[in-house]
Amino acid sequence: MANPETVDIVIIDSGMGGATCAAGLAPTGARILILERGARLRDSADAREARAIFQRGVFRPQETWLDGAGQACNPGNYYYVGGNSKLYGAVLLRYRAEDFAPIAYREGATPGWPFPYEELEPWYGLAEKLYNVRGALGLDPTEPKHSVPYPYAPVPDEPAIAKVRERLKRVGLRPFPLPLGIDIEKWLARAKTPWDAFPDTGTGKMDAETCGLNKALAHGNVELRENARVERLLMGPDVKRITGVEATIAGERTAISARLVILAAGAVNSAALLLASRDGGVANRSDTVGRHFMNHNCSAVLAIDPRSVNDSVYQKTLGVNDFYLDDGHGGPPLGNIQLLGRVTGPILKSSIPMAPEWALTLMSRRSVDWYAMSEDLPNPDSRVTVEGEQIRLDWKRSNWSAHDGLVKAFRQRLRAAGYPIVLSKPFDRRTPSHQCGTVRIGSDPATSPLDPYCRAWDHPNLFVIDASFLPTSAAVNPSLTIAAQALRVSDHIAKTDLR
Ligand SMILES: Cc1cc2nc3c(=O)[nH]c(=O)nc-3n(C[C@H](O)[C@H](O)[C@H](O)COP(=O)(O)OP(=O)(O)OC[C@H]3O[C@@H](n4cnc5c(N)ncnc54)[C@H](O)[C@@H]3O)c2cc1C
Repeated sequence: MANPETVDIVIIDSGMGGATCAAGLAPTGARILILERGARLRDSADAREARAIFQRGVFRPQETWLDGAGQACNPGNYYYVGGNSKLYGAVLLRYRAEDFAPIAYREGATPGWPFPYEELEPWYGLAEKLYNVRGALGLDPTEPKHSVPYPYAPVPDEPAIAKVRERLKRVGLRPFPLPLGIDIEKWLARAKTPWDAFPDTGTGKMDAETCGLNKALAHGNVELRENARVERLLMGPDVKRITGVEATIAGERTAISARLVILAAGAVNSAALLLASRDGGVANRSDTVGRHFMNHNCSAVLAIDPRSVNDSVYQKTLGVNDFYLDDGHGGPPLGNIQLLGRVTGPILKSSIPMAPEWALTLMSRRSVDWYAMSEDLPNPDSRVTVEGEQIRLDWKRSNWSAHDGLVKAFRQRLRAAGYPIVLSKPFDRRTPSHQCGTVRIGSDPATSPLDPYCRAWDHPNLFVIDASFLPTSAAVNPSLTIAAQALRVSDHIAKTDLR
């Protein structure tokens, strides 16, 4: 291919890591090209229609991955400008300070991070500002130090949820307002629906497109190309510098040269791209690319009180961290609990297709819907591999006894709080929402592909800045930590690579 287009920085995609990095690097004036596999989400009636989203899966990708047993499945992994954050629940929680040190569980231990919480703390504050987080300090018993307050006051509890908060307090729990990236008035003005797992078409969700990307694109030196799928990274003859990328843009194969390449395609796709780019993989001297895949152990927990109606629309304003640092009796930690977006009959029907929707609607009117989440531990055999062009994801769950303990402990409290029926169901393997860990940071090139600034140990001009870099999954939602590290690394790149 003659004279490939040349830019300073190619960012492979516009998801949470990529868009936040673009926002951080845009003021440097470097010519930045963002290549995004998906297109922008346009508004449509389906965007707020639960049956279209959950039963007909109209926003899901036309893609199959293989699981560990070689079974094909359609993953809940979304390809749009803004990536998975377009459908996210917008809970923007920091990792706890304790998450950065090794943690001992019954079934194993976490390795800890190559730096402590204090290193990321200022960047968390900047990420909260960029994503306009609504929250309140001083109510979460596990809250780490915040050097700046949240930019906005919390999203208010709806009346039904304010009563749930009181019921939980009466049984000794300490519910706190979930930090959220949602402009609730704007969201509800478009339609009275929850936002969790609903696509954002620019109507109030603070996601990678509406916050990170739009801020970056306000600079004339940043360009986005949609429908641009990167096929492989290109390497110089020294097998050290990445010279650029090969991509399919609007059906055409194109090579693009760049001084720096920032890969941020998500924990499954970034690992797959590195593995597919070269025999033995790129950045893979340690043979850890694709390994240590984690995804949280999660269950939906429905607390049903036949005497009380839950007429909330969005519901998702409370978190409970009373079992986060220990099990409530000094034993190993169990995890985080937070409200799900309101689960209605049409949404339940997608998980229980045999049941009539009217019966599920009747049940959901009396249920409060929770999300219980426990840490998944890094295991080298839990991994992403590529067979031909096919992604195989062999997720080996870990730490299930902690998750089981979390659901049991919460069930007991819910019963004491007056919910006689508590149903729980683990999220299945086709939901890789919190995928992470496959190209992790570390302080030793023998055990990690990336240094603590997400730079490939093997390739000085390659960075991987998405959920792949996370060395531990903690038991909180990942996006804010990805965004904070993206801002930290952008600052580092501006000071060391763009001078
Ligand atoms: C339903 C749902 C609810 C969630 N709720 C929350 C929540 O409340 N809080 C939270 O913190 N997290 C939540 N998450 C998780 C959160 O969305 C992800 O952790 C986050 O988006 C990951 O960021 P990332 O940069 O790793 O990847 P992504 O944001 O997924 O971005 C990856 C991007 O890469 C693009 N891409 C992939 N391959 C290629 C290629 N070859 N070439 C070019 N582009 C490519 C994709 O199209 C996508 O835009 C949720 C996820 C889902 C699905």
